[in-house]
Amino acid sequence: MADTFTAFVIDDVDGKPKGGFKPLSLSDLPDHDVLVEVAYSTLNYKDGLAVSGKGRIARKLPMVAGIDLAGTVVESRSADWKAGDKVIVNGWGLSETQWGGYSRFQRVKPEWLTRLPDVFSAEEAMGIGTAGYTAALCVDALEDWGTIQPGGKEVLVTGAAGGVGSVAVALLAKAGYPVTASTGRPETHEYLSGLGATGFIDRAALQEKGPPLQKERWAGGVDSVGGITLVNALSQTVWGGAIAACGLAGSADLPGTVLPHILRSVTLIGVDSVAAPAARRERAWARLARDLDKDHLKAMYTVEPMSKLPELAGQILAGRVRGRVVIDVT
Ligand code: NDP
Repeated sequence: MADTFTAFVIDDVDGKPKGGFKPLSLSDLPDHDVLVEVAYSTLNYKDGLAVSGKGRIARKLPMVAGIDLAGTVVESRSADWKAGDKVIVNGWGLSETQWGGYSRFQRVKPEWLTRLPDVFSAEEAMGIGTAGYTAALCVDALEDWGTIQPGGKEVLVTGAAGGVGSVAVALLAKAGYPVTASTGRPETHEYLSGLGATGFIDRAALQEKGPPLQKERWAGGVDSVGGITLVNALSQTVWGGAIAACGLAGSADLPGTVLPHILRSVTLIGVDSVAAPAARRERAWARLARDLDKDHLKAMYTVEPMSKLPELAGQILAGRVRGRVVIDVT
């Protein structure tokens, strides 16, 4: 084991959070029960905010950024995990209150770990990452709600060419739901058709404020954009349908009315991945293992070295990243 290794650390510089690469040793890591040798992390939108300093993600400093990690257990004081186990961590406050995945080694609590499904390598699991696992949580939530039907009315996915959106399109299509992808990037239509999207709607069409009750079009939807886009999605959802909302890539506002809810029984399902209980995580990862086609997954992500994090953070915040970015921390 190397004496020191490189991590991306957010530090307090003149009262402001500022990120940079820094050497760490094992003795610098938190005193949690499981030591993981990290192979890959990812770049999510939230990571873009943390790395660029454009959002205050870290709630204490210094903080190792990176909300995901995948790797191998090196040492464990927990009976649940042993050296050699292949594991994933998504969320659980990594990069916010707990040190995260942009580090060759990390110590974590045993209850944060999910077993890496056999069908995925660590790289592939991070190709999915928090964004993909959140997409699976959204699809689970819509199915539990019960109004989306294989071969039935269209299911809307907003921010479709992004990380959450791409995986949501693929999972919904695989389960037989007709998927309409909303994207601002027409050049991604071929990619999204390849994942299974059968219809497209320009994202601008969902960004113009419309009447509170519009033509009933969507049996359900997965929204990672928020703002007027989400309001329109709700206004266009069928009686009794639901939108699973997990993101704010467009806006954190919700400038709508209660009318879709009280006149059409439309439900807004909130989806949080960070503190989701273990049973939901395992179910979401089981769906991903079962339904995410390996060729689709390979087409969704690129692998980049940790040294490119600052540049990539700017790109994801500017909406210029297609699909997912895996960060090689080795
Ligand atoms: P990405 O940047 O990969 O994708 C977001 C997509 O949203 C973009 O690709 C783009 O899609 C669309 N978009 C970006 N900016 C705008 C805009 N101004 N107006 C309308 N559409 C826009 O991010 P992720 O998929 O990783 O994350 C999406 C959102 O979900 C983020 O807000 C993130 O914080 C949130 N999230 C929440 C989680 C939770 O636990 N609740 C977990 C994971 C993510 P296109 O080019 O197709 O138009």
